[in-house]
Amino acid sequence: MTNYTNFTVETDVDGIALVTWDMPGKSMNVITTDVMDELNAIIDQTVADNTVKGVVITSGKSSFSGGADLSMIKSMFSLYRDEKASSPDTAAQKLFDLVGRLTGLFRKLETCGKPWVSAINGTCMGGALEMSLACHGRVASNAKGVKIALPEVKVGIFPGAGGTQRVSRLADAQSALQMMTTGQSLTPARAKAMNLVHQVVEPDQLIPAAKQLIKDGLKPVAPWDEKGFKAPGGGIWTPAAAQLWPAAPAILRRETAGNYPGALAILKCVYEGLQVPFDTALKIEQRYFTEVLQTTEAFSMIRSLFVSMQELGKGARRPAGIPKTELKKVGVVGAGFMGASIAYVTAAAGIAVTLIDRDMEAAAKGKGVGEGLVKDSVGKGRLTQDEGAALLSRITPSADYSDLKDADLVIEAVFEDREVKRAVIEAVEAVLPEGAIFASNTSTLPISGLAKNSSRPVDFIGVHFFSPVEKMMLTEVILGKESGDKALAVALDYVAAIKKTPIVVNDTRGFFVNRCVFRYIHEAYDMLIEGVPPAMIENAAKMAGMPVGPLSLNDEVAIDLSQKILKATVADLGEAAVDPKHLALINRMVDDLDRRGRKNGKGFYDYPAKPAKKSLWPELKTFYPQQKADEIDVSVLIQRFLVTIALEAARTMEEGIVTDPREADVGSILGFGFAPYTGGVLSYIDGMGVNAFVELCEKLATSNGSHFKPTALLQEMAAKGETFYSRFNPYPGTKEAA
Ligand code: NAD
Repeated sequence: MTNYTNFTVETDVDGIALVTWDMPGKSMNVITTDVMDELNAIIDQTVADNTVKGVVITSGKSSFSGGADLSMIKSMFSLYRDEKASSPDTAAQKLFDLVGRLTGLFRKLETCGKPWVSAINGTCMGGALEMSLACHGRVASNAKGVKIALPEVKVGIFPGAGGTQRVSRLADAQSALQMMTTGQSLTPARAKAMNLVHQVVEPDQLIPAAKQLIKDGLKPVAPWDEKGFKAPGGGIWTPAAAQLWPAAPAILRRETAGNYPGALAILKCVYEGLQVPFDTALKIEQRYFTEVLQTTEAFSMIRSLFVSMQELGKGARRPAGIPKTELKKVGVVGAGFMGASIAYVTAAAGIAVTLIDRDMEAAAKGKGVGEGLVKDSVGKGRLTQDEGAALLSRITPSADYSDLKDADLVIEAVFEDREVKRAVIEAVEAVLPEGAIFASNTSTLPISGLAKNSSRPVDFIGVHFFSPVEKMMLTEVILGKESGDKALAVALDYVAAIKKTPIVVNDTRGFFVNRCVFRYIHEAYDMLIEGVPPAMIENAAKMAGMPVGPLSLNDEVAIDLSQKILKATVADLGEAAVDPKHLALINRMVDDLDRRGRKNGKGFYDYPAKPAKKSLWPELKTFYPQQKADEIDVSVLIQRFLVTIALEAARTMEEGIVTDPREADVGSILGFGFAPYTGGVLSYIDGMGVNAFVELCEKLATSNGSHFKPTALLQEMAAKGETFYSRFNPYPGTKEAA
């Protein structure tokens, strides 16, 4: 047996070397420069060793591998940017060479002359799948939850280590494009149907089956290296391809509005690559990959959607020196829409939950929501019957506050009413043990105000969930004026336990996410009032990269909730705090027309009975004199949406509500889907440059209202040439590549 740092190599009596990838101190294998060096050495070693007839590569962990270490790619950006300043050509050449390293390594494996089989024992993603595709055989385990994917497009890049060329030479072009441009996960069965793996077997049969392929004489030659090879369907110059290719860019544009350079590059790589010999095709891919890596989108998406998200998930904002809390029991008070789902996700994380409501019937109804979710998951094969039953056994409905006497944390999700919340805070604190934490899920009431009802405001904090709780990955943790470090640490330990990503924000009306979301919705109100056709408003938002149009989103949130918030703002801050035209529009919708949104089947959209789809309410167009669609500059509508949200985020930084740019960026993408290709609200500003952003704000302020005026901080940053990531450097003491 030969031991490497990340691999072991053990050759059996049949001359088959088993290479086991098991990186020390990591929960998942990733491709780093060390891994590349060792894999290179293993190829040399097994080729040189005459006793070795073939190689099986597998993983020593439950998953196969997550693919390339994106931190490595992030550091490539820094190298590139530093070099570019002095010599742009050398910088691009260096990037090209770096990018080619993995491609070259996998090609070396593929052409080494001995058969390699990848034994995919668990989830296999990105670069690891590209490596497997370079092997001559692939066997996958049918163990539960094994996923096979090339998800690079989701972080702004694309499979650049041969993936676009091998997938499109194994699978039909349409399935290949679909898989890579969406980054979708495949089950092993689907991967086999696409011809990406040769066999799917029981987990205990994996290694024997992989070895058997070699014993059966697997040829160490890739199909595309055989004479006369033709891609499935015959390649580009066939009648079928003539159907597919003209439509492909249009379909991609419909899905992405041209916002994702990585997705478009996949189309180019496959289309161009299938027309040339394989090694030339790899070069084409390498060139496009180098080009995409130089885009702001790739840089910003990798930073926010990979690096920052991981850092926040690992507790970047957790106060040091407070031991980790192993939560044994959590209380949830209020078993309604939110509380029921909070109880479910908590129990799903293995924590016992006491779910309290005003009476047993209401509490049991809340548990019923969990029962429905479990049934759904069991039906979809995500949970076994036993796991589902165990999960539900952890939720105990109750109407008795004394059941909270041994809770570590209580989350309050009762009506959004100060008086109701005050009574609940008192009732809970009467039984809650010393040192346990009280968290409110309020969406509109400032935490510091609620904490005035608490006898221990140091242990009082906000933990703000988003609906639907089981799907939304973000949780806002809100610090009241007196919230202590322990409260923050426990809240973050809880959010980590339920596997969500936290952002920590200081107390303010609407916190971070809702402040931004309401700017988005209010811009749509402005557009409606100006007579922009409603369909154009919704489409412009989608073209901006927002997953849901603002009118559709307002229907989901409920229009009467918007009305309540506008009225509360007037009551608290005075008439001038809201636009009277907005209030008039919303009052008309709610008070005159009873159009409250999806919940009562009528809002900005009509909601006919299924399977019919919702459609914009035709009468909306009669509210205001309509402008002619072709006289409206849609690019300005797009800018207005992005800029109004980004400006609000900049204000939260200026006010000290959000203190770390990573949180604003990650929070904006996970909280309301802010155009992911930008890397989030502040990366959007940094990406174009604060100077350019300030100019854009000034232009929009002149044409579309003073709410676009750039703030003092932005002007100062523009004058100094700063970015958010340099001014609010999340890594103090180091130079941030901004
Ligand atoms: P809901 O009306 O569906 O549920 C509230 C529950 O609290 C009801 O089951 C009610 O019986 C119970 N309740 C009321 N008084 C109680 C008392 N004294 N003791 C015990 N239980 C009591 O409301 P919801 O939409 O789940 O909202 C709950 C909280 O979550 C609010 O503060 C809201 O602002 C916040 N929130 C809501 C959303 C959302 O999308 N709905 C999102 C984030 C946060």
